[in-house]
Amino acid sequence: MGNPTKHIFITGGVTSSLGKGIIAASLAKLLQSRGFSVTIQKFDPYLNIDPGTLNPYEHGECYVTEDGAETDLDLGHYERFLNTPTSQGNNVTTGRIYNNVITKERKGEYLGKTVQVIPHITDEIKRNFYKLGLDGKYDVIITEIGGCVGDIESLPFIEAVRQIRWDLGPHNFLVIHLTLIPYLAAAKELKTKPTQHSVKQLLEAGVQPDILVCRTEHHLPTDVKKKIALFCNVQLNCVIEAMDADTIYDVPLLMKKEKLDERVIAKLKLTGKTNTDLEQWKEFLGRLKNPTQEVKIGLVGKYVSLPDAYKSIIESFIHAGASLECKVNLSLISSEEINPDNVDQKLGDLDGILVAPGFGERGLVGKIEAVKFARVNRVPFFGICLGMQIAVIEFAKNVLGLTDACSTEMRSDTSEPVIFLMEEQKGITQMGGTMRLGAYPCELVKGTRSAAAYGKGKISERHRHRYEFNNNYLESFERHGMVAAGKNPDSGLVEIMEVQDHPWFVGTQFHPEYKSTVLSPHPLFIRFVQAAIDKKQQV
Ligand code: GLN
Repeated sequence: MGNPTKHIFITGGVTSSLGKGIIAASLAKLLQSRGFSVTIQKFDPYLNIDPGTLNPYEHGECYVTEDGAETDLDLGHYERFLNTPTSQGNNVTTGRIYNNVITKERKGEYLGKTVQVIPHITDEIKRNFYKLGLDGKYDVIITEIGGCVGDIESLPFIEAVRQIRWDLGPHNFLVIHLTLIPYLAAAKELKTKPTQHSVKQLLEAGVQPDILVCRTEHHLPTDVKKKIALFCNVQLNCVIEAMDADTIYDVPLLMKKEKLDERVIAKLKLTGKTNTDLEQWKEFLGRLKNPTQEVKIGLVGKYVSLPDAYKSIIESFIHAGASLECKVNLSLISSEEINPDNVDQKLGDLDGILVAPGFGERGLVGKIEAVKFARVNRVPFFGICLGMQIAVIEFAKNVLGLTDACSTEMRSDTSEPVIFLMEEQKGITQMGGTMRLGAYPCELVKGTRSAAAYGKGKISERHRHRYEFNNNYLESFERHGMVAAGKNPDSGLVEIMEVQDHPWFVGTQFHPEYKSTVLSPHPLFIRFVQAAIDKKQQV
């Protein structure tokens, strides 16, 4: 028998938004670069079954996996760093745990027993902690516990972590606590007290952290590290400094410099693999940090005041930009602020325009104006999901002359439903998890820009939508120069629309941004950025 799967738990203290997901992904990257097979899972304390029904303002982007799970945006980081897919099993919420337990209770699985947080909820949490490791595929599973220690919601997760130490035994289990060391400018001092308190809270729950990763804006002097080690009951070399970084993609190298991976390997007695291979990662960073050109691209959407709502798109531009040694300056533009009178001024200085995914009516006029501006002025255009649907509506209105054209999502009474509800969506009343979700195949049409970008005829991309292009209009669109460049081979659903007489005008029903990673930037983003570079050079 090989080594048992080792479990690393990452908790957070003092405040949220310290970047547990990035630390988890960075540690995983370092272990992966030494040849260990690693996956990361996230346990979220909220009561929604998944984030699919959350407004992006609540929790940022909803990230969709190959198997169609609607998940936390940290899973996007896991995939972008590790270049391996995640699945529903990688994201579990309190809501899902309770739902499972209550469903079992109704089936009679606990017959005669009082169902309680301990042991029933904690047993269900532990069952889910172990799930991805059952087939022995992974040397290490990193589990990120969402929220902060001390939150009421995360208590059952912390309790399950406490119990697991005894189930797994020594060297198979490790807790890393991510904390903040604030700097008080007035006192010119780094303060350790909040960290002491948050570790105390963990200890009260029976969990002793093995490693502390300390977020800080200033280097931690040895005496500060010693103090933290003493008060928090950890070894001095397990107090790891995590300085603010220029880019999240620096963090694996920073953590390597701080020897986070070495501490983990020693504590877990992981054996066999010692050499790190981060060459490709470093090459990527080199290109990212030394651009030879730059472009300005506008991202038009309605959630622009919270950039996390477009996390995967923003990261996709970083990957594509780096591959072209081009700095992409992304300007987030609220679609609600664009109208026919100001569109030239709002979008006039852009080298490319992306209309973002989204739902509902808000900002519709501005999005249509943005598409029209890009089409008429021959500015490279990329529409994603709703962005592609808007491009279709704009073309119908302004080229085909169908002035009433719309999507039935925004106007159920439109006489020209160029975008309409998919057949299989009719009659669905439940909101959660019922969209067309996850990976579906798409066949590309030879000679199109998309086919050239991918360099192959068959692709698979991820989806999250209820509406689709109405194929009754396809012939008319194609006659006027907007063509279906990709379709689902089974249903004929239009996956890509392109305007032919244009430098680069592509709309996709799928979400390419979910599949762009550091080591494998997405071809459509690369081509779009290249088109923006070409446009800028022409000017
Ligand atoms: N609201 C559109 C639909 O449901 C687009 C969804 C999206 O952009 N993710 O089809």
